[in-house]
Amino acid sequence: MDERTYTADAEPGDTVTVAGWVHEVRDLGGIAFLILRDTEGKIQVKFEVEEMDDELVETGLNVHRESVISVTGDVEEEPRAPTGVEITPESVDVISEADPELPLDPSGKVDAELSTRLDNRTLDLRKDEVKAIFEIRAEVLRAVREQFRDLGCTEINTPKIVATGTEGGTELFPITYFGQEAFMNQSPQLFKQLMVGSGLERVFEIGPIFRAEEHNTPRHLNEATSIDFESAFADHTEAMDACEAVVKAAYEAVESNCQDELVALDLADEFEAPEGEFPRLTYEEAIERINATGELDEPLVWGDDLPTEGEHALGQDVGEHYFITDWPSEIKPFYIMDKDDEVSTGFDMMHPEMELVSGGAREHRYDHLVDGFEQQGLDPEAFDYYTKMFKYGMPPHAGWGLGGERLIMTMLGLGNIREAVLFPRDRQRLSP
Ligand code: ATP
Ligand code: MG
Repeated sequence: MDERTYTADAEPGDTVTVAGWVHEVRDLGGIAFLILRDTEGKIQVKFEVEEMDDELVETGLNVHRESVISVTGDVEEEPRAPTGVEITPESVDVISEADPELPLDPSGKVDAELSTRLDNRTLDLRKDEVKAIFEIRAEVLRAVREQFRDLGCTEINTPKIVATGTEGGTELFPITYFGQEAFMNQSPQLFKQLMVGSGLERVFEIGPIFRAEEHNTPRHLNEATSIDFESAFADHTEAMDACEAVVKAAYEAVESNCQDELVALDLADEFEAPEGEFPRLTYEEAIERINATGELDEPLVWGDDLPTEGEHALGQDVGEHYFITDWPSEIKPFYIMDKDDEVSTGFDMMHPEMELVSGGAREHRYDHLVDGFEQQGLDPEAFDYYTKMFKYGMPPHAGWGLGGERLIMTMLGLGNIREAVLFPRDRQRLSP
C-alpha cells in the first residue's frame, strides 16, 4: 500500500496512514477509542464525537471488530493511550468489513478450544501469543540453517514421493502414482545417506515427513518437519556434537532475537538456553536409573524399548537435555552401525519431556547392509537403488533426525505439538 506506516513507527508530530484490523472499539459517550492492530503492534485512534465530522465518527464507531481499515491522521503523544501515542483521524476507510459473528475472539478475552482455533487458524494467528510461536519457529529454522552452514553442510531437498518406505510397510501412506503404488516418504534417511557418498559429503535437510501412525498423542503428527543431518567420515560421537550444537544454536537465537515473542508467551523470565554439555548416558545406565525411580510396574530389562512413563521418569531425574547411547542393536533400525553383536552406535537425544532426535553411525559395508535388510524382513531388491551405491565407494558416516515441532514444543513448553504447526495433520484433521 502507498505510504502505509506500521503502528510501531507512528511518531508524535507525524501525519500517517496506518492500516490493519479493528481490535476493539470503546465508546465512552462523548469520546470513543478504536484500537487498530497490525503485525507490529496496536495504536489508539481517538474520536471526539461532538467535534468531528459525523460521517467519520459514524464509520469509526460502527465498524465491526476484525474488519480491515485504514486510518489517516495526526499522531500525538497521549500518556493514557496503551502505547503512549494516539491518532486523531482525518479519514477512516473500511477496506474489508468483518462479519459481526466471529468463530473465535482474536482479542483473546474468550478462550477457544484447540480444535476451534485450528479450524480458524487465520483468526487464531491474530493473537500475539499464537503469532509469537510462529515467529519463534521461523527464527529457530533460520538459526538451525546458519548452524548447519557453520558445520560445513550443504542444504538438500530429497523426494517426498517414494517407491518404498525406509522402515518397511508399516506407518506408510500409500498413494497412486500414475497407476503405480507409491508412498509419502517417512524420512529422508536413505536419500541423505546416498549424499554422503556423493561429492557433497555433509548435508542437511529441513522438510516434511509423513507417518501413518495410528496413535493420537500430544506429541505425534501425521505430517511433521524433520531436521536431518548426515556426514561422511563422522562417527556417532561427532554426530552427537553436531546435534548438540544445532539445538543450542536454536535456543540461543531465540534468547537473543525473540524477547518480544517470549514476553507475549509469558516466558521471558524462565527461558534459558541450555549450557554445558548434554549428559551422555548409556542405554544400560538409562534403564537402571528408570528402574531405580520405581515409577514402572515392571522393571525394564535389556532389549526393552523405553516406555513413555520410563522416558518421563528419567527426564525428571536428569532434568536437562541428554543423550541415550549404546542402544541394543535389536531395537535400532538395520542401517545403524553396530559396535558389537549386541550394542549399536544408535543414540537418542532427549528433552526431559520426550525424545527429540534419533541418530547413529551408519552401516556402510555392502554385505552387512544387505544382511541387515534380510534380518529386518525387508526385500533388499526393493532397495536396490540404495544398496547398490554402497558397492561404489561409500565412506563411513553418521547422522540424525530431529523433530522440528518437538523442538519448538519443548522449547516453549507447549502442551500439544499441534500448537507448533500452522495446519496440523492428525487422525481427525485433514483440513484446513
Ligand atoms: P517416537 O518413538 O517418539 O514416536 P520415533 O523414534 O518413532 O519417535 P524417529 O523415527 O526416531 O521417531 O524420528 C526422529 C525424530 O523425528 C523423533 O525423535 C521425533 O522428534 C520426530 N518424529 C518422529 N515421528 C514423529 C511424529 N509422528 N510426529 C512428530 N515428530 C515426529
Ligand atoms: Mg526414534
